[in-house]
Amino acid sequence: MPPLHVRDVTVRFAGLTALEGVSLTVAPGTVHALIGPNGAGKSTCFNVLSGLYRPSCGTVHLGDTDLTRLAPHRIAALGVARTFQNIVTTEGTVADNLMVGRHALTRAGFAAGALRLPYAVREQRENLEKVREIAELTGLGPHFDRPVALLPYGDRKRVELARALCLEPKVLLLDEPVAGMNAGERARTAEVVTEVRARLGLSVLLVEHDMGLVMRLADEVTVLDFGRLIAQGTPDEVRAHPQVLRAYLGTANDRED
Ligand code: ADP
Ligand code: MG
Ligand code: MG
Repeated sequence: MPPLHVRDVTVRFAGLTALEGVSLTVAPGTVHALIGPNGAGKSTCFNVLSGLYRPSCGTVHLGDTDLTRLAPHRIAALGVARTFQNIVTTEGTVADNLMVGRHALTRAGFAAGALRLPYAVREQRENLEKVREIAELTGLGPHFDRPVALLPYGDRKRVELARALCLEPKVLLLDEPVAGMNAGERARTAEVVTEVRARLGLSVLLVEHDMGLVMRLADEVTVLDFGRLIAQGTPDEVRAHPQVLRAYLGTANDRED
């Protein structure tokens, strides 16, 4: 698995600098947490990584591949998949949603002319097997043929995670994966992330306000505040950083579950 390198990325909107010279590396097979108060630039960073925003300057590389100016679907097909802060799912069942993710990967081959009709039938069968496997891995097996709209919130949010996994990513970007969940759902999702990482060997960039989860899952942490990097290091190093305590942890720890 290649590392993901963000180098000196700046994003400016009219009258506002959302990210200023931010650099971080997600090492292979690790969980890197990106934290900071609301408006710090975390989702903006994800939007740059997934090709939705072009940075004003700076670069993003997956190994040696420059992703900085690629379209979102190219980036996804190259192995960087994401979820959104607010749930984005389609109508239909869990299986339907996962197949959408899967087709985004395998239809890339179709568009390149690699696919002929007999292969299309086989591809469909193989895709279904693969998405079922991912549903099991993410605890959605029992819901496979149920409409997503009828699932409890925590399971619905996990459909997005599962759909991202259907792209067989090398790096998974999770934007607040437990936001709005109750304690049981949070614990379940934390287990799933741990399991996914161990089984699939991918790396994770995690945006999360739940500091307990961040400290438990992360190998490395980057802290942003008003678009600037204020601390970077192991969870313990970052936790001890005075600016972090002042700018973020003091309030974050007071959040209600
Ligand atoms: P976070 O995810 O850390 O809460 P965001 O990355 O969503 O923060 O936002 C960082 C800042 O950039 C905020 O001030 C936000 O209002 C601003 N911002 C984000 N996207 C846009 C956009 N498309 N146009 C203008 N301002 C934006
Ligand atoms: Mg926010
Ligand atoms: Mg955000």
